[in-house]
Amino acid sequence: MTTPEAGFHQSPVTPASLPGEAAHADLVARLAREIYGQGQALSEPFAPALPASALPSPAPASLAIPGLDGAAFAALVPGGPDLLRRIAQDHPRAASFAEAIAPGFLPAPPAAPSRLAPAAPGAALGAPDYYFLPAEPRSVPVLPVATAFDPERVRKDFPALHQSVNGHRLVWLDNAATTHKPQSVIDATSRFYAHDNSNIHRAAHTLAARATDAFEGGREAVRRFLNARSTDEIVFLRGTTEAINLVANAYGRANFGPGDEIVLSQIEHHANIVPWQMVAQATGATLRVIPVNDRGELLLDQFAALLSGRTKIVAVTQVANALGTVNPIPEIIGLAHAYGVPVLVDAAQSSPHMPLDVQALDADFLVFSGHKVFGPTGIGALYGKKHLLDAMPPWQGGGHMIEDVTFARTVYRGVPEKFEAGTPDIGGAVGLGAALDYLQGVGLPAIAAYEHGLLDYAQGGLAEIRGLRLIGTAHHKASVMSFVIEGQENAAIAQHLDRHGIAVRAGHHCALPALRRFGVSESVRASLAFYNTREDVDVFLAALRTLPRR
Ligand code: PLP
Repeated sequence: MTTPEAGFHQSPVTPASLPGEAAHADLVARLAREIYGQGQALSEPFAPALPASALPSPAPASLAIPGLDGAAFAALVPGGPDLLRRIAQDHPRAASFAEAIAPGFLPAPPAAPSRLAPAAPGAALGAPDYYFLPAEPRSVPVLPVATAFDPERVRKDFPALHQSVNGHRLVWLDNAATTHKPQSVIDATSRFYAHDNSNIHRAAHTLAARATDAFEGGREAVRRFLNARSTDEIVFLRGTTEAINLVANAYGRANFGPGDEIVLSQIEHHANIVPWQMVAQATGATLRVIPVNDRGELLLDQFAALLSGRTKIVAVTQVANALGTVNPIPEIIGLAHAYGVPVLVDAAQSSPHMPLDVQALDADFLVFSGHKVFGPTGIGALYGKKHLLDAMPPWQGGGHMIEDVTFARTVYRGVPEKFEAGTPDIGGAVGLGAALDYLQGVGLPAIAAYEHGLLDYAQGGLAEIRGLRLIGTAHHKASVMSFVIEGQENAAIAQHLDRHGIAVRAGHHCALPALRRFGVSESVRASLAFYNTREDVDVFLAALRTLPRR
């Protein structure tokens, strides 16, 4: 691998050698290449990262670019200081490296933790997909923050990973289906049931107050995780499926009519197809589908062509569960909003892998499931812009969602209670809050960078397995490897791996239209999380090499 030093010594960059605007992006790209290594483009949503351990520490002073200091860099490269701040956060060692390239490079750190926000659609080539927004004061719990990402350290937090299955160390590669839980989630849930258990809101006693606080604390953790403006915009539901059903029924039935169109993509989970189909049948609306290319990437020009005055909603996944494609959500939202069309983002597969910010995305609705973000099953959340939720009628009726009931009429409460009929999953909300706090403590930018490297490593290994065809080869992918092997049954592959203690999934992954686009109706899917290691991947690849030939 080319070391960062070598790159600069071979071809020094100075302000004088960079005439005019055109050179700015080049300088940013080169700096990032030098710092991150491997020549990866900065526009990757997953911050491409040279492992921190690969950077010399301290960075050699000989890297300094003559005449380039912090002030010169800031003047020369719009967005440069933000880029450097991002690099510094991802990799403390890279920070010293950047300082060595141009002393005084790093702008003063913000007063409070910054938020990541996507760059505007059409941002200059070479600019990062994510910028830091000005920090906002908010109360963040004090969490153990890892300085450098260490998978071995986080693995210790997950008791279920430390067991043997069929005589082998468990290798859990079924993370897209569900994730394991850190001890802090298990503890928070069991502490709730051991000490605070009560129904919420309705009783004036101590445990009811404690349970209510714990439940609403979970809602605040979701708000913080998504950077929503208010907890009024967070509705607790069973998970992604129920959240999409709520929007389809409450928003859809109130807003769709004959001739209206609902735009989905070809690579959605069934949970983001079937509810829309049902509401389309009930209202006379029709589904329009954004196609994908042979890599499994959405064809944005065709998406733009689908939008019209008839379009009433766009519902797309951020990460496709069967293919791993990371969809360009900022661009999709930008295009839809140009037509005044709201967008629902299915974040079931993105939420465990990348930072989310509903305000920066300007998402109208965003949904995710607790069990995929290292939290409990049976709990998830819907984010909705307050004015949209306010205008939507309730979907289910019952206790807790009412102000007043007579046999003649019912007066509903406001959001979010209007959408939370009946006793909610209180313990689940507590566990979900603990899971999100845990994830934020580990740090989603660091998780994204680590998983990106692990996915590259694993896909490189899969490319060497004879007869294996990877389904879903998007440039921007997250965590999922779907494949078939010539002459092998998918179920037999999964069973063979299970005999080696390796958990993967074989089947249609609730995404039949996506798989059919690639000429299959089933595949084997191995999916990664931040607690997976290269050793896990090596064990998986070695087991695939011993598949009995048919
Ligand atoms: N959307 C996507 C992209 C998914 O991957 C899944 C689950 O795999 C769902 C929706 C449904 O999630 P849940 O079953 O937790 O409701």
